[in-house]
Amino acid sequence: MGKVAVVTGSTSGIGLGIAQALARAGADVMLNGLGDQVEIEKIRASLSAEAGVRVGYHGADLLNAGGAAAIVTDTIERLGRVDILVNNAGIQHVSPIEDFPVEKWDAIIALNLSAAFHATRAAFAPMKAAGWGRIVNVASAHGLVASPFKSAYVAAKHGVLGLTKTVALEGAEHGVTCNAICPGYVWTPLVENQIDATAEARGISRDDVIRNVLLAAQPSKRFADVDELGALTVFLCSEAARSITGAAMPVDGGWTAQ
Ligand code: NAD
Repeated sequence: MGKVAVVTGSTSGIGLGIAQALARAGADVMLNGLGDQVEIEKIRASLSAEAGVRVGYHGADLLNAGGAAAIVTDTIERLGRVDILVNNAGIQHVSPIEDFPVEKWDAIIALNLSAAFHATRAAFAPMKAAGWGRIVNVASAHGLVASPFKSAYVAAKHGVLGLTKTVALEGAEHGVTCNAICPGYVWTPLVENQIDATAEARGISRDDVIRNVLLAAQPSKRFADVDELGALTVFLCSEAARSITGAAMPVDGGWTAQ
């Protein structure tokens, strides 16, 4: 592939799966995310050795407005350029709207929506100048449809789809595509963490949450694997996908077909 990719929120879950897929396809990758620094260094070093590409790590906290732009400028300095930007970092909070903590609303909008804007803003001019770029936003089935108790997340993810379409139009004549991936339920720590919160909000057991809440709307009745999101991202970053832009692609086992 010979490209340089930034993947936000790639120390875990979907972002890590996407970073691994891009590295295995031959891209140099800048990882980002929170977590134990020793563990992160292990992930970085083993991915670099296994895939035979340069893998860096930038620890910016994307709740800070300057963090996302700093990753992009630092990647250009350390790895030479940015060809691919995957805006993936995200958090969730589950609560009825009348009790929804205001600081959770602010954090979810900042991380799930504004960080994608800040990173795109920083990466867009260099991509345009190069005449080639790929921006992939990890949205959600909740960018297309809502569920109760997830007001901030659903609002942010719908916003990501609006950002995706706008950036697609601005990049259309410059070889820069921008698409959104809309996963249903994928088995990651983010899903694990919301099982207990949903059980509490609805007053039901963990098993009921898994069978009758989380996968109730997912006709395939299975969680997607992060590899599936990685493979789709690699395709969207290929030459074959150069006419695909402004799209929101469900990877949701049929959820939003209903
Ligand atoms: P995860 O919790 O496994 O990973 C989230 C990543 O974001 C981690 O690397 C974490 O360190 C990083 N992160 C968190 N806060 C950060 C901050 N302030 N600054 C920088 N990095 C930060 O979650 P995941 O399930 O892999 O989710 C990744 C994306 O996929 C999110 O945008 C999420 O909304 C979306 N998504 C997930 C699912 C799912 O089922 N897991 C479904 C649809 C969409």
